[in-house]
Amino acid sequence: MSYLVLRGINKIYPNGYHAVHDFNLKIEKGEFIVFVGSSGCGKSTTLRMIAGLENISKGEFYIDGVRANEKGPRERGVAMVFQSYALYPHMTVYDNLAFGLTLQGVDDDVIEQKVYATAKILGLTDYLDRLPRALSGGQRQRVAVGRAIIRKVDIFLMDEPLSNLDAKQRVTMRSEITQIHRETGATTIYVTHDQTEAMTMADRIVVMKEGYIQQVGTPHDLYFNPSNMFVAGFIGEPPMNFIEGTVKNGKIDVKGNVIVLSAVADKDVIQKYEGEKIVFGFRPEAIRLIGKGDDNNSFKISCTVELTEMLGDNTNVYVDIAGIKTILKVDPHDAPNEDDAFDFLIPYESVYLFDKNTEKRIKLRADK
Ligand code: ADP
Repeated sequence: MSYLVLRGINKIYPNGYHAVHDFNLKIEKGEFIVFVGSSGCGKSTTLRMIAGLENISKGEFYIDGVRANEKGPRERGVAMVFQSYALYPHMTVYDNLAFGLTLQGVDDDVIEQKVYATAKILGLTDYLDRLPRALSGGQRQRVAVGRAIIRKVDIFLMDEPLSNLDAKQRVTMRSEITQIHRETGATTIYVTHDQTEAMTMADRIVVMKEGYIQQVGTPHDLYFNPSNMFVAGFIGEPPMNFIEGTVKNGKIDVKGNVIVLSAVADKDVIQKYEGEKIVFGFRPEAIRLIGKGDDNNSFKISCTVELTEMLGDNTNVYVDIAGIKTILKVDPHDAPNEDDAFDFLIPYESVYLFDKNTEKRIKLRADK
């Protein structure tokens, strides 16, 4: 097990493009860290700098307290799984798994024992004689993972390893990778653009945007305490709803739905934003229907229903609050009809406010 420290890491590509800015993070021994963000935000670049495949333009990188900037990929004790699997097409599964160990000069009987043990963990025992082209996408991905774990490294790096799989295979492999992580205990860094993968697999998530870290936290932290609008909108499906308004006399008027801010925020917070634009946020799943439980301690909002999507376990309801489009997530049994006028409640405890200029979350109470 290794711990990693990235201090002030930057990547400027030879063409002058500044892909990663001032990346600071300590990754604990055995932690499962996920870098998440939209395509092009610098996740792979950061991972490749950790792997030693890309040089670090500025900043310091330590493995177990020892500076590793100048170390080559082989000296870092890392194994990497790529999106493309990178299997040798002319070699059997057995040989693909054995290849790294053969190069290291490991004895044949030790290799055989390790290949069988790894194949067993990954359910590949019956496929050892096959060539990669005779495997399904999921099986190929397992071989790629197997090739990395067979080396018993301390640091495991994965770059979008599931993106070539179908939805069902992704769910299966997600839990398999989590299981392998539990068994090997290797410090793992996993790159994905998929927030569900991040939420289900990570001990801690690093959310990135345009080369900058937006927030680092547990899945619970990011969902309940997003530090800005980007994180609030990125984590959660469907995303958080945002409604813009100007604070007047401690209230925002959302097209006739008056939100009295003293219900959710301290007086000095409201005073600070008097006359300023703020953004009111609530999650689609946080709303409550009238007459279903506690109708107090909530803002009541009126809207019209534009479209409903029945997904089985819930229905997404697309509504229009006098011109503002938002999404609500409700039990299918309670779903309103399209084109109906509809009232719903947003519990005070589910309200987020953001500064319109900085997009940062506003702390509502001094004691929270
Ligand atoms: P992500 O993994 O988050 O999708 P990347 O780390 O691959 O993003 O890329 C971050 C940014 O750096 C992108 O804008 C990409 O176009 C750019 N980039 C990646 N590789 C190079 C390169 N070799 N030269 C110049 N720019 C690059």
